Amino acid sequence: MRMSHQHRAVAAAVAATVTLAIGGCAGPPAHPHSPGVPVVAVDIGHSPTEPGAISAGGVPEHAYNRKLANDLLTQLHADGYTQSFVIKPTEKGMSLQERAESAVARGASILISVHHDSVQPRYLKQHRVFGRVVGYSEGISGYSLFYSEAGHAGDDSLRLATEIGRQLRAAGLTPSLHHAEDIPGERRELVDESLGIYRYDKLILLRAAGIPSVLFEAGVIVDRDEERQFRDPAYREQIARALSRAVTAFAEASR
Ligand SMILES: [Zn+2]
Repeated sequence: MRMSHQHRAVAAAVAATVTLAIGGCAGPPAHPHSPGVPVVAVDIGHSPTEPGAISAGGVPEHAYNRKLANDLLTQLHADGYTQSFVIKPTEKGMSLQERAESAVARGASILISVHHDSVQPRYLKQHRVFGRVVGYSEGISGYSLFYSEAGHAGDDSLRLATEIGRQLRAAGLTPSLHHAEDIPGERRELVDESLGIYRYDKLILLRAAGIPSVLFEAGVIVDRDEERQFRDPAYREQIARALSRAVTAFAEASR
């Protein structure tokens, strides 16, 4: 999650929506915990026209996000969470606020936003892929989890992030701690080093939803080895299973 993709857009949206999200209390209503079956809204980070990071292999992040989001939905349905859905932006696209509203309007009790990560420009080297110059980095890899204390579900969002982190660790994944580095664009508050959980209150999608929400950076796609892993359906399935198990654990602990 280079701060120049998701977060530049987020920062621009903050001014417009902060009144609604906090001051006016006019954001989507907070959902009480449903004792029933979890309904997961899966958000595909970014959009085809604003695709986020570009991988070491020259692939837009959005393409990886879409693949993993769809794999996650398949897994959730297989595990009995049949009302879960992928948020489908309309043709003209959807703001982060609209994505949150859409998730809540469709009855979601959990929101997971799927992203793939990048690094700050200082760590990018350049190489050619099919004649095109593309950035890549070495030595920074792993997943990250972000939650927001702002909004209506901060505690539960941290709990959800914790369950996801535990399941990812159990599946053999390693968190990246690079967002906590003391350099411009990073300096995120790392609240759980062992599970790779950061607090980031400016993420509009998370704070606007009012339901337990986590932004999941599945891995660093400017790292060539890590990008290669995401091309493997078995690896994506392993991640999807871990996330679905975390949904189960979260729901059970909520009862
Ligand atoms: Zn992203």
